[in-house]
Amino acid sequence: MTIISVIGLQWGDEGKGKVIDLLAQEAEVVVRYQGGCNAGHTVIVGGHKTVLHQIPSGVLHSGRLCVIAHGVVVDPKRLVDEIEMLEEQGIDVAQQLRISSGCHLVMPYHQRLDLAAEANRGQDRIGTTGRGIGPCYADKVARVGFRMTDLLADAEDFPERLAARVANVQRLLEALDAGGEPIDAAAITEEYLALGQRLAPLVTDTATLLQEAVAAKRSILFEGAQGALLDVDMGTYPFVTSSNTGFGSIGTGAGVSPRSVDTVIGVIKAYCTRVGEGPFPTEAHDESGEQLRERGQEYGATTGRPRRCGFFDVVAARAVIEANGVDELVVTKLDVLSDFDPLRVCVKYRIEGRETDRFPVSRREQQRVEPIYEELPGWKQDLSSVTRAEDLPAEARHYLATMQELLGVPIRLVSVGADRRQIIDCRQTRLEPVPES
Ligand code: GDP
Repeated sequence: MTIISVIGLQWGDEGKGKVIDLLAQEAEVVVRYQGGCNAGHTVIVGGHKTVLHQIPSGVLHSGRLCVIAHGVVVDPKRLVDEIEMLEEQGIDVAQQLRISSGCHLVMPYHQRLDLAAEANRGQDRIGTTGRGIGPCYADKVARVGFRMTDLLADAEDFPERLAARVANVQRLLEALDAGGEPIDAAAITEEYLALGQRLAPLVTDTATLLQEAVAAKRSILFEGAQGALLDVDMGTYPFVTSSNTGFGSIGTGAGVSPRSVDTVIGVIKAYCTRVGEGPFPTEAHDESGEQLRERGQEYGATTGRPRRCGFFDVVAARAVIEANGVDELVVTKLDVLSDFDPLRVCVKYRIEGRETDRFPVSRREQQRVEPIYEELPGWKQDLSSVTRAEDLPAEARHYLATMQELLGVPIRLVSVGADRRQIIDCRQTRLEPVPES
Protein backbone atom coordinates (compact mmCIF):
# COMPACT_ATOMS: atom_id res chain seq x y z
CA MET A 1 0.00 0.00 0.00
CA THR A 2 1.28 3.46 -0.83
CA ILE A 3 -0.21 6.90 -0.68
CA ILE A 4 1.31 9.23 -3.25
CA SER A 5 0.85 12.94 -3.80
CA VAL A 6 1.65 14.38 -7.23
CA ILE A 7 2.06 18.13 -7.57
CA GLY A 8 3.30 20.46 -10.30
CA LEU A 9 6.43 22.40 -9.34
CA GLN A 10 6.19 25.31 -11.78
CA TRP A 11 3.38 27.50 -13.13
CA GLY A 12 1.16 24.58 -14.17
CA ASP A 13 1.14 22.63 -17.47
CA GLU A 14 4.07 20.49 -16.33
CA GLY A 15 2.47 17.38 -17.81
CA LYS A 16 0.85 16.17 -14.58
CA GLY A 17 -2.01 14.56 -16.53
CA LYS A 18 0.30 12.04 -18.16
CA VAL A 19 2.19 11.32 -14.93
CA ILE A 20 -1.00 10.78 -12.95
CA ASP A 21 -2.37 8.57 -15.69
CA LEU A 22 0.80 6.46 -15.44
CA LEU A 23 0.85 6.24 -11.65
CA ALA A 24 -2.88 5.53 -11.57
CA GLN A 25 -2.10 2.09 -12.96
CA GLU A 26 -0.97 1.15 -9.47
CA ALA A 27 -3.51 3.14 -7.47
CA GLU A 28 -6.94 2.07 -6.32
CA VAL A 29 -8.21 5.59 -5.60
CA VAL A 30 -7.33 8.86 -7.38
CA VAL A 31 -8.29 12.14 -5.73
CA ARG A 32 -8.51 15.80 -6.72
CA TYR A 33 -8.57 18.16 -3.74
CA GLN A 34 -8.16 21.77 -5.01
CA GLY A 35 -8.74 24.00 -8.03
CA GLY A 36 -11.58 23.62 -10.47
CA CYS A 37 -12.20 23.47 -14.19
CA ASN A 38 -9.47 26.08 -14.71
CA ALA A 39 -7.17 23.04 -14.70
CA GLY A 40 -6.75 21.07 -17.92
CA HIS A 41 -4.98 17.73 -17.81
CA THR A 42 -4.18 16.12 -21.14
CA VAL A 43 -3.85 12.36 -21.42
CA ILE A 44 -2.97 10.66 -24.68
CA VAL A 45 -3.57 6.92 -24.95
CA GLY A 46 -2.88 5.20 -28.27
CA GLY A 47 -3.07 8.51 -30.12
CA HIS A 48 -6.46 9.40 -28.60
CA LYS A 49 -6.42 12.68 -26.69
CA THR A 50 -8.62 13.30 -23.66
CA VAL A 51 -8.55 16.62 -21.80
CA LEU A 52 -9.93 16.43 -18.29
CA HIS A 53 -10.81 19.56 -16.34
CA GLN A 54 -12.54 18.36 -13.18
CA ILE A 55 -12.50 14.57 -13.13
CA PRO A 56 -9.22 12.98 -11.94
CA SER A 57 -7.11 11.62 -14.81
CA GLY A 58 -7.22 8.15 -13.21
CA VAL A 59 -10.71 7.72 -14.64
CA LEU A 60 -9.17 6.42 -17.88
CA HIS A 61 -8.19 3.22 -16.04
CA SER A 62 -11.15 0.95 -15.50
CA GLY A 63 -11.89 0.05 -11.91
CA ARG A 64 -10.14 3.08 -10.36
CA LEU A 65 -12.27 5.01 -7.93
CA CYS A 66 -11.94 8.73 -8.72
CA VAL A 67 -12.86 11.30 -6.11
CA ILE A 68 -13.55 15.01 -6.42
CA ALA A 69 -13.01 16.06 -2.81
CA HIS A 70 -14.52 19.10 -1.09
CA GLY A 71 -11.54 21.41 -1.75
CA VAL A 72 -12.39 21.42 -5.47
CA VAL A 73 -14.85 24.01 -6.73
CA VAL A 74 -17.22 22.25 -9.11
CA ASP A 75 -18.91 23.70 -12.16
CA PRO A 76 -21.82 21.23 -12.30
CA LYS A 77 -22.77 21.99 -15.90
CA ARG A 78 -19.26 21.44 -17.22
CA LEU A 79 -18.93 18.39 -14.98
CA VAL A 80 -22.00 16.80 -16.57
CA ASP A 81 -20.50 17.54 -20.02
CA GLU A 82 -17.23 15.89 -18.97
CA ILE A 83 -19.09 12.84 -17.61
CA GLU A 84 -21.02 12.49 -20.87
CA MET A 85 -17.82 12.79 -22.94
CA LEU A 86 -16.28 9.94 -20.89
CA GLU A 87 -19.45 7.82 -21.08
CA GLU A 88 -19.33 8.15 -24.87
CA GLN A 89 -15.82 6.64 -24.68
CA GLY A 90 -17.32 3.67 -22.82
CA ILE A 91 -16.08 4.65 -19.34
CA ASP A 92 -18.29 3.54 -16.48
CA VAL A 93 -18.46 6.89 -14.69
CA ALA A 94 -21.32 5.85 -12.40
CA GLN A 95 -19.06 3.16 -10.99
CA GLN A 96 -15.82 5.13 -10.94
CA LEU A 97 -16.62 8.69 -9.82
CA ARG A 98 -17.57 10.15 -6.43
CA ILE A 99 -18.10 13.85 -5.70
CA SER A 100 -18.05 15.48 -2.28
CA SER A 101 -21.30 16.98 -1.01
CA GLY A 102 -19.05 19.72 0.42
CA CYS A 103 -17.71 20.95 -2.94
CA HIS A 104 -18.44 24.59 -3.57
CA LEU A 105 -20.36 25.29 -6.77
CA VAL A 106 -19.30 27.61 -9.56
CA MET A 107 -22.43 29.63 -10.31
CA PRO A 108 -23.19 31.31 -13.67
CA TYR A 109 -22.62 34.73 -12.10
CA HIS A 110 -19.09 33.76 -11.02
CA GLN A 111 -17.96 33.88 -14.64
CA ARG A 112 -19.43 37.37 -15.02
CA LEU A 113 -17.73 38.48 -11.81
CA ASP A 114 -14.45 36.97 -13.03
CA LEU A 115 -14.50 38.93 -16.30
CA ALA A 116 -15.71 42.13 -14.62
CA ALA A 117 -12.98 41.92 -11.96
CA GLU A 118 -10.32 41.27 -14.62
CA ALA A 119 -11.53 44.26 -16.69
CA ASN A 120 -11.23 46.46 -13.59
CA ARG A 121 -7.77 45.33 -12.55
CA GLY A 122 -5.86 47.76 -14.76
CA GLN A 123 -2.17 46.94 -14.58
CA ASP A 124 -2.86 44.00 -12.30
CA ARG A 125 -4.63 41.89 -14.91
CA ILE A 126 -3.87 38.33 -13.88
CA GLY A 127 -4.84 36.54 -17.08
CA THR A 128 -7.66 34.50 -15.50
CA THR A 129 -9.20 31.64 -17.50
CA GLY A 130 -12.55 33.43 -16.98
CA ARG A 131 -14.22 30.28 -15.69
CA GLY A 132 -15.37 31.82 -12.41
CA ILE A 133 -13.00 29.86 -10.18
CA GLY A 134 -11.55 32.92 -8.37
CA PRO A 135 -14.96 34.43 -7.51
CA CYS A 136 -16.21 31.00 -6.40
CA TYR A 137 -13.31 30.64 -3.94
CA ALA A 138 -13.85 34.28 -2.89
CA ASP A 139 -17.52 33.51 -2.10
CA LYS A 140 -16.44 30.43 -0.16
CA VAL A 141 -14.11 32.48 2.02
CA ALA A 142 -16.67 35.29 2.34
CA ARG A 143 -19.16 32.59 3.41
CA VAL A 144 -21.74 33.40 0.74
CA GLY A 145 -21.09 30.37 -1.48
CA PHE A 146 -23.23 27.35 -2.34
CA ARG A 147 -22.16 23.76 -1.98
CA MET A 148 -23.27 20.54 -3.65
CA THR A 149 -25.35 19.74 -0.56
CA ASP A 150 -27.39 22.90 -1.23
CA LEU A 151 -28.79 21.16 -4.31
CA LEU A 152 -29.56 17.97 -2.38
CA ALA A 153 -29.95 17.58 1.39
CA ASP A 154 -30.15 21.35 1.93
CA ALA A 155 -32.20 22.14 -1.19
CA GLU A 156 -35.15 23.50 0.75
CA ASP A 157 -33.39 26.81 1.52
CA PHE A 158 -31.62 27.06 -1.81
CA PRO A 159 -34.11 29.21 -3.80
CA GLU A 160 -34.37 31.85 -1.09
CA ARG A 161 -30.64 32.01 -0.32
CA LEU A 162 -29.80 32.13 -4.01
CA ALA A 163 -32.27 34.97 -4.67
CA ALA A 164 -30.67 37.00 -1.86
CA ARG A 165 -27.17 36.36 -3.17
CA VAL A 166 -28.15 37.16 -6.76
CA ALA A 167 -29.57 40.54 -5.67
CA ASN A 168 -26.19 41.40 -4.10
CA VAL A 169 -24.17 40.15 -7.08
CA GLN A 170 -26.35 42.22 -9.43
CA ARG A 171 -25.55 45.35 -7.41
CA LEU A 172 -21.88 44.46 -7.42
CA LEU A 173 -21.82 43.95 -11.20
CA GLU A 174 -23.55 47.29 -11.73
CA ALA A 175 -20.98 49.00 -9.52
CA LEU A 176 -18.26 47.41 -11.68
CA ASP A 177 -19.98 48.75 -14.81
CA ALA A 178 -20.82 45.21 -15.89
CA GLY A 179 -24.56 45.16 -15.10
CA GLY A 180 -25.69 43.74 -18.47
CA GLU A 181 -28.58 41.29 -18.53
CA PRO A 182 -30.20 40.92 -15.10
CA ILE A 183 -29.29 37.60 -13.46
CA ASP A 184 -32.31 35.31 -13.45
CA ALA A 185 -32.29 33.68 -10.01
CA ALA A 186 -35.33 31.52 -10.77
CA ALA A 187 -33.71 30.11 -13.92
CA ILE A 188 -30.48 29.33 -12.06
CA THR A 189 -32.45 27.66 -9.26
CA GLU A 190 -34.23 25.41 -11.72
CA GLU A 191 -31.10 24.60 -13.72
CA TYR A 192 -28.93 23.88 -10.67
CA LEU A 193 -31.51 21.75 -8.85
CA ALA A 194 -31.81 19.66 -12.04
CA LEU A 195 -28.01 19.37 -12.25
CA GLY A 196 -28.01 18.31 -8.58
CA GLN A 197 -30.45 15.50 -9.40
CA ARG A 198 -28.30 14.42 -12.36
CA LEU A 199 -25.19 14.24 -10.15
CA ALA A 200 -26.94 12.94 -7.00
CA PRO A 201 -26.00 9.25 -7.44
CA LEU A 202 -22.31 10.26 -7.44
CA VAL A 203 -22.43 12.64 -4.46
CA THR A 204 -21.31 11.48 -1.03
CA ASP A 205 -19.23 12.37 2.04
CA THR A 206 -15.85 11.83 0.40
CA ALA A 207 -13.82 12.78 3.51
CA THR A 208 -15.24 9.75 5.33
CA LEU A 209 -14.82 7.61 2.21
CA LEU A 210 -11.15 8.59 1.96
CA GLN A 211 -10.44 8.21 5.68
CA GLU A 212 -11.85 4.69 5.41
CA ALA A 213 -9.68 4.03 2.35
CA VAL A 214 -6.58 5.13 4.32
CA ALA A 215 -7.58 2.93 7.26
CA ALA A 216 -8.11 -0.02 4.90
CA LYS A 217 -4.58 0.57 3.53
CA ARG A 218 -5.75 1.10 -0.03
CA SER A 219 -3.31 2.75 -2.42
CA ILE A 220 -4.29 6.34 -3.06
CA LEU A 221 -3.01 8.93 -5.51
CA PHE A 222 -3.62 12.62 -4.78
CA GLU A 223 -3.66 14.63 -8.00
CA GLY A 224 -2.60 18.26 -7.62
CA ALA A 225 -3.81 20.82 -10.14
CA GLN A 226 -2.00 23.95 -11.39
CA GLY A 227 1.51 24.38 -9.99
CA ALA A 228 3.29 25.22 -6.76
CA LEU A 229 4.43 28.62 -8.11
CA LEU A 230 0.76 29.51 -8.63
CA ASP A 231 -0.14 28.82 -4.98
CA VAL A 232 -2.21 31.68 -3.56
CA ASP A 233 0.19 31.99 -0.59
CA MET A 234 3.54 30.73 -1.84
CA GLY A 235 3.28 31.90 -5.46
CA THR A 236 3.93 35.11 -7.36
CA TYR A 237 1.00 36.97 -5.78
CA PRO A 238 -1.28 38.44 -7.15
CA PHE A 239 -0.48 36.53 -10.35
CA VAL A 240 -1.54 33.22 -8.85
CA THR A 241 -4.48 30.86 -8.81
CA SER A 242 -7.10 31.13 -6.08
CA SER A 243 -6.32 27.92 -4.20
CA ASN A 244 -3.43 26.37 -2.32
CA THR A 245 -1.77 24.11 -4.85
CA GLY A 246 0.79 22.51 -2.57
CA PHE A 247 0.77 19.06 -1.07
CA GLY A 248 -0.35 20.39 2.32
CA SER A 249 -3.84 21.21 1.13
CA ILE A 250 -4.63 17.49 0.97
CA GLY A 251 -5.50 17.96 4.66
CA THR A 252 -8.04 20.72 4.20
CA GLY A 253 -9.13 19.85 0.65
CA ALA A 254 -9.71 16.12 1.07
CA GLY A 255 -10.03 15.61 4.82
CA VAL A 256 -7.05 13.25 4.90
CA SER A 257 -4.00 13.97 7.02
CA PRO A 258 -1.00 14.86 4.82
CA ARG A 259 0.98 12.75 7.29
CA SER A 260 -0.57 9.64 5.80
CA VAL A 261 1.14 10.37 2.46
CA ASP A 262 4.21 8.19 1.86
CA THR A 263 5.75 9.95 -1.15
CA VAL A 264 5.45 13.45 -2.59
CA ILE A 265 6.27 13.45 -6.30
CA GLY A 266 7.00 16.77 -8.00
CA VAL A 267 6.38 17.03 -11.75
CA ILE A 268 8.70 19.47 -13.45
CA LYS A 269 9.29 20.35 -17.09
CA ALA A 270 12.87 20.33 -18.36
CA TYR A 271 12.32 24.05 -19.12
CA CYS A 272 9.79 26.63 -17.93
CA THR A 273 6.47 27.93 -19.22
CA ARG A 274 3.87 30.25 -17.89
CA VAL A 275 0.43 31.15 -19.23
CA GLY A 276 -1.12 34.54 -18.51
CA GLU A 277 0.50 37.43 -16.73
CA GLY A 278 3.02 37.59 -13.91
CA PRO A 279 6.73 37.45 -13.14
CA PHE A 280 8.71 34.83 -15.08
CA PRO A 281 12.44 35.35 -14.40
CA THR A 282 13.77 33.08 -17.17
CA GLU A 283 11.28 34.02 -19.90
CA ALA A 284 13.08 33.93 -23.27
CA HIS A 285 12.17 36.90 -25.42
CA ASP A 286 14.37 35.78 -28.32
CA GLU A 287 13.91 33.01 -30.88
CA SER A 288 14.67 30.30 -28.31
CA GLY A 289 11.36 31.13 -26.55
CA GLU A 290 9.57 30.82 -29.88
CA GLN A 291 11.35 27.54 -30.61
CA LEU A 292 10.44 26.07 -27.21
CA ARG A 293 6.79 27.04 -27.79
CA GLU A 294 6.61 25.43 -31.21
CA ARG A 295 8.60 22.30 -30.36
CA GLY A 296 6.79 21.81 -27.04
CA GLN A 297 3.40 22.76 -28.49
CA GLU A 298 3.01 25.16 -25.62
CA TYR A 299 -0.60 26.24 -26.01
CA GLY A 300 -3.05 26.06 -23.08
CA ALA A 301 -5.22 22.92 -22.74
CA THR A 302 -8.06 25.00 -21.26
CA THR A 303 -7.89 28.24 -23.25
CA GLY A 304 -5.60 27.54 -26.24
CA ARG A 305 -3.52 30.59 -25.25
CA PRO A 306 0.17 30.51 -26.28
CA ARG A 307 2.35 29.90 -23.23
CA ARG A 308 5.38 32.04 -22.44
CA CYS A 309 8.56 29.91 -22.53
CA GLY A 310 12.06 30.02 -21.12
CA PHE A 311 14.91 27.94 -19.75
CA PHE A 312 14.95 25.96 -16.50
CA ASP A 313 14.87 27.95 -13.27
CA VAL A 314 16.57 26.21 -10.35
CA VAL A 315 15.94 29.05 -7.86
CA ALA A 316 12.15 28.97 -8.33
CA ALA A 317 12.04 25.17 -8.31
CA ARG A 318 14.10 24.88 -5.15
CA ALA A 319 11.80 27.27 -3.26
CA VAL A 320 8.74 25.07 -3.81
CA ILE A 321 10.58 21.78 -3.44
CA GLU A 322 11.58 22.80 0.07
CA ALA A 323 8.11 24.06 0.97
CA ASN A 324 6.46 20.83 -0.18
CA GLY A 325 8.98 18.30 1.05
CA VAL A 326 9.26 16.76 -2.42
CA ASP A 327 10.73 13.24 -2.30
CA GLU A 328 11.09 12.44 -6.02
CA LEU A 329 10.93 14.24 -9.35
CA VAL A 330 9.34 13.41 -12.67
CA VAL A 331 11.00 15.45 -15.42
CA THR A 332 8.76 15.95 -18.46
CA LYS A 333 9.31 17.12 -22.03
CA LEU A 334 13.04 16.41 -22.12
CA ASP A 335 12.51 15.56 -25.83
CA VAL A 336 11.67 19.21 -26.54
CA LEU A 337 15.24 20.27 -25.68
CA SER A 338 16.92 18.29 -28.51
CA ASP A 339 18.79 20.65 -30.88
CA PHE A 340 19.23 23.44 -28.32
CA ASP A 341 22.97 23.92 -27.92
CA PRO A 342 24.06 25.16 -25.49
CA LEU A 343 21.28 24.68 -22.94
CA ARG A 344 20.89 27.24 -20.23
CA VAL A 345 19.93 26.66 -16.60
CA CYS A 346 19.31 29.56 -14.22
CA VAL A 347 21.23 28.88 -11.02
CA LYS A 348 21.00 32.26 -9.26
CA TYR A 349 19.26 35.61 -9.53
CA ARG A 350 20.73 39.10 -9.62
CA ILE A 351 18.30 41.65 -8.20
CA GLU A 352 19.35 45.31 -8.34
CA GLY A 353 23.02 44.33 -8.33
CA ARG A 354 22.73 41.77 -5.51
CA GLU A 355 23.10 38.01 -6.11
CA THR A 356 20.71 35.60 -4.41
CA ASP A 357 19.55 32.01 -4.58
CA ARG A 358 16.21 32.82 -2.88
CA PHE A 359 12.98 33.54 -4.73
CA PRO A 360 11.97 37.09 -3.73
CA VAL A 361 8.64 37.89 -2.07
CA SER A 362 8.40 41.44 -3.38
CA ARG A 363 6.55 41.92 -6.70
CA ARG A 364 8.98 44.62 -7.68
CA GLU A 365 11.94 42.35 -7.05
CA GLN A 366 10.29 39.41 -8.83
CA GLN A 367 9.90 41.62 -11.88
CA ARG A 368 13.50 42.85 -11.76
CA VAL A 369 15.22 39.50 -11.51
CA GLU A 370 18.13 39.04 -13.92
CA PRO A 371 18.77 35.31 -14.21
CA ILE A 372 22.34 34.07 -13.87
CA TYR A 373 22.76 31.11 -16.22
CA GLU A 374 25.04 28.13 -16.35
CA GLU A 375 25.50 26.69 -19.84
CA LEU A 376 25.29 22.98 -20.46
CA PRO A 377 26.05 21.09 -23.69
CA GLY A 378 23.03 20.18 -25.79
CA TRP A 379 22.31 17.13 -27.95
CA LYS A 380 20.92 16.58 -31.44
CA GLN A 381 19.37 13.13 -31.11
CA ASP A 382 15.57 12.72 -31.15
CA LEU A 383 14.64 11.29 -27.74
CA SER A 384 11.05 10.35 -28.42
CA SER A 385 11.68 6.62 -28.74
CA VAL A 386 14.26 6.25 -25.93
CA THR A 387 12.96 4.02 -23.13
CA ARG A 388 16.11 3.39 -21.03
CA ALA A 389 18.25 5.99 -19.27
CA GLU A 390 21.41 4.28 -20.60
CA ASP A 391 20.27 5.00 -24.17
CA LEU A 392 19.99 8.74 -23.64
CA PRO A 393 22.80 10.83 -25.16
CA ALA A 394 25.52 11.58 -22.59
CA GLU A 395 24.60 15.30 -22.72
CA ALA A 396 20.97 14.54 -21.83
CA ARG A 397 22.09 12.37 -18.90
CA HIS A 398 24.41 15.18 -17.86
CA TYR A 399 21.51 17.67 -18.02
CA LEU A 400 19.35 15.43 -15.81
CA ALA A 401 22.20 14.76 -13.38
CA THR A 402 22.78 18.51 -13.07
CA MET A 403 19.08 19.12 -12.36
CA GLN A 404 19.08 16.36 -9.79
CA GLU A 405 22.18 17.73 -8.07
CA LEU A 406 21.06 21.37 -8.06
CA LEU A 407 17.59 20.49 -6.80
CA GLY A 408 18.77 17.89 -4.28
CA VAL A 409 15.97 15.43 -5.15
CA PRO A 410 16.26 12.14 -7.09
CA ILE A 411 14.64 11.80 -10.51
CA ARG A 412 12.19 8.89 -10.64
CA LEU A 413 10.89 9.16 -14.21
CA VAL A 414 11.71 11.12 -17.34
CA SER A 415 9.06 11.73 -19.99
CA VAL A 416 10.12 12.07 -23.64
CA GLY A 417 6.77 12.35 -25.40
CA ALA A 418 3.07 12.74 -24.82
CA ASP A 419 2.17 9.05 -25.00
CA ARG A 420 1.94 6.76 -21.98
CA ARG A 421 4.75 4.59 -23.39
CA GLN A 422 7.24 7.46 -23.85
CA ILE A 423 8.69 7.22 -20.37
CA ILE A 424 12.10 6.36 -18.89
CA ASP A 425 12.35 4.83 -15.43
CA CYS A 426 15.50 6.23 -13.76
CA ARG A 427 15.19 4.51 -10.40
CA GLN A 428 17.75 1.82 -11.24
CA THR A 429 20.17 4.05 -13.15
CA ARG A 430 22.60 6.45 -11.57
CA LEU A 431 22.51 9.73 -13.45
CA GLU A 432 26.05 11.03 -13.20
CA PRO A 433 27.36 14.32 -14.52
CA VAL A 434 29.68 13.75 -17.50
CA PRO A 435 33.20 14.99 -16.62
CA GLU A 436 34.38 17.90 -18.74
CA SER A 437 36.89 16.77 -21.35
P1 GDP B 1 -0.82 19.41 -16.94
O1 GDP B 1 -1.82 20.50 -16.71
O2 GDP B 1 0.33 19.52 -15.98
O3 GDP B 1 -1.43 18.05 -16.98
O4 GDP B 1 -0.17 19.66 -18.35
P2 GDP B 1 -0.92 19.77 -19.75
O5 GDP B 1 -1.68 18.53 -20.01
O6 GDP B 1 -1.65 21.05 -19.88
O7 GDP B 1 0.34 19.95 -20.71
C1 GDP B 1 1.17 18.99 -20.98
C2 GDP B 1 1.16 18.82 -22.48
O8 GDP B 1 2.37 18.23 -22.84
C3 GDP B 1 0.10 17.88 -22.97
O9 GDP B 1 -0.28 18.22 -24.29
C4 GDP B 1 0.80 16.53 -22.94
O10 GDP B 1 0.24 15.58 -23.81
C5 GDP B 1 2.17 16.92 -23.36
N1 GDP B 1 3.27 16.13 -22.79
C6 GDP B 1 3.33 15.55 -21.56
N2 GDP B 1 4.56 14.99 -21.38
C7 GDP B 1 5.27 15.23 -22.52
C8 GDP B 1 6.60 14.94 -22.91
O11 GDP B 1 7.40 14.35 -22.20
N3 GDP B 1 6.98 15.37 -24.15
C9 GDP B 1 6.16 16.05 -24.98
N4 GDP B 1 6.62 16.46 -26.16
N5 GDP B 1 4.88 16.35 -24.63
C10 GDP B 1 4.45 15.95 -23.42
